[in-house]
Parts: sequence; structure tokens; C-alpha cells
Amino acid sequence: MQYFDKVVYTFSADNEPTGTIDSGEIVIFRTQDCFSNQMHSESQLVTSCDYSKMNPATGPLFVRDAQPGDVIKVELLDVQCDTIGTTTTLPKIGPLWDKCETRTKRIPIENGKAVFNDVTFPINPMIGVIGVAPEKGKSVPCGYPGSHGGNMDNTAITTGATLYFPVAVEGALFGCGDMHAAMGDGEISVSGAEVAGYATVTLTALPDLHLVDPLIENGTHLGIIASAESLDAAADRAVHEMVDLLHDRTGVDEAELVMLLSLVADVQVCQMVDPQKTVRFMVPKYVLESLGFKL
Ligand code: CA
Ligand code: ZN
Repeated sequence: MQYFDKVVYTFSADNEPTGTIDSGEIVIFRTQDCFSNQMHSESQLVTSCDYSKMNPATGPLFVRDAQPGDVIKVELLDVQCDTIGTTTTLPKIGPLWDKCETRTKRIPIENGKAVFNDVTFPINPMIGVIGVAPEKGKSVPCGYPGSHGGNMDNTAITTGATLYFPVAVEGALFGCGDMHAAMGDGEISVSGAEVAGYATVTLTALPDLHLVDPLIENGTHLGIIASAESLDAAADRAVHEMVDLLHDRTGVDEAELVMLLSLVADVQVCQMVDPQKTVRFMVPKYVLESLGFKL
């Protein structure tokens, strides 16, 4: 099994691949935390970090057979975080910066539980930054989310989930990083329990699928993940794309789909603090099966 630990700070066709793999191969990524592992104690503030080294993504990997216009399927076989996380507030970013000073908290993790002062809670190791290179000539910092994926900070991107990304350049140039041991939907402080970790994934090129924005699938739901300048705009984008996808694949009339989805599907906030905001629109898989929908 190939193992990768080199990082980049942008998703770009100009990044030299750190490795080449066959479609369907299982690979392991060693990921740094979003601070590039620069935070070491509670007395250290995030403002002391080198900001040019934020949100590193391990990669990029060149996946043979992945062609522009296709889709790459990413199965998250295992998402494992290290045993110490870091969370922080930031000056002047996020909805609550007026409520607090810049501060750092270390979050010990043991036996599947995280500790914040006297509060202990279960972890949900998830990947914040995950995606592929955007079209040639475009370079997106890893702190930004978009159609290529990137910093989506989606709590559903965890062990057992499968993601589908639209491929914009040959080989896809896949990367991931910014693991969180825990995060609430919204990520209101601009920080999860930021942690280094290991992600074991398979990357498979799918030539017959075409997407605008990433899809996510887990045991119970299939969703579209959309990012835009506001949560409203991101939600609008996600629900439109889902209706288009279901209409194209099932032939069911749009008004019927809109009424049905209004009863059974959920708009959920991923994050509201990054340069673009991210929403997922999740439809139960039993509903998709009843409609005769297949990817
Ligand atoms: Ca993030
Ligand atoms: Zn993060």
C-alpha cells in the first residue's frame, strides 16, 4: 500500500504530483493539522503561526485514467486522528470574534473521547480539506472550498463516507488534510479540534459520471455539497443541482421532486466561517431507490 506525507497549500494543476496510482488502488495519507503542526501549547496563539502554511493538503496524487470531465470516487475506508487536538479563536474571523479574545485550547483524545476542560464528548474524526485540482490556470488556496472540494469542513466526511468530485485536469491531482477530531456543524469559532491523522482511501476514476459540485454518500444518504458567498446562496445551489440530477436520472417531473424533497431531504450547514460558505443537501437513499435513481 502506498503511503504519502508531502503537502501542498493550494489545489492547482501546476502542483507536481507526489505520486501516481492506479484507479482503484488503496492509499494511505499522513495528514498534518490545519496549522501545519505549528501549535504546541496553550500559551501559543494562532497569530504566531506562519500563515503561508495553513490548511496543508497531503498530495497531490495523480490517478491514472482520471480525465477532465469525469468523476473521481473517493471511498474513506478509515479516518484516524492523533491523540492531541488544538482548537482556537481567531481575531476578526467568524460570527463571534466580538465575543472573545484570541485563545488556544489543547484537546486530549483518548479511547474515542475528547476532553475540553471538564467536558468529555465522543470524537467524530472527519476530513476538513479534500479535493482535486481546479481547471488549468486556476490555483485555489487549500483554505477555500469550491466545486473542486477543498476546505468544505463537512462533518459527514468521515469513515465510511464516499465522495465524488468532478475532475478538471488529467490525473485529478487529489489531496486531503485538515482533520478534525470533532466539529459542530457551522464550525462557529473557525476551528474544529484540529488534529493530524491518517486517512486510508481508495481513488477510482468513473468515466461515465459528470458533476458540477461534489457529492457525498454514506450508509443512509446521498447529498450534494455546494459552496458560495453566503449560506443562502450555497443552499440554493445545492437544492437546484439535486433536483437537476434526480430529474435527469429518473425523468420524474421537477414539481413532483420539489414537493417530495421538501418532505424528506435536509439542508445542513457544513461551515459558515471560510471564505465561501458550505452547505450539504442530503436525501435518504431509500427515497432514491424508490425513484429508481442510480448514480
Ligand atoms: Ca477547515
Ligand atoms: Zn480544520
